[in-house]
Amino acid sequence: MNPPAFDNYSVPCPHCGATNTITTVDIPERMQIDCSACLAPLGSWGEIRTEISRDDRSAAR
Ligand SMILES: [Zn+2]
Repeated sequence: MNPPAFDNYSVPCPHCGATNTITTVDIPERMQIDCSACLAPLGSWGEIRTEISRDDRSAAR
């Protein structure tokens, strides 16, 4: 019995600086993510995830 894979990502909003915590369970890659504070569109989840991966890679060097 495997628990569902809960992945939490912190996505900073470039507009107001608020940190949006996104729980990526059942989120389709095409889903548009909005900032929870200022409602600015942050892009699709697929794009955001790609950027997070890039950030992780550059921060790990
Ligand atoms: Zn914002």
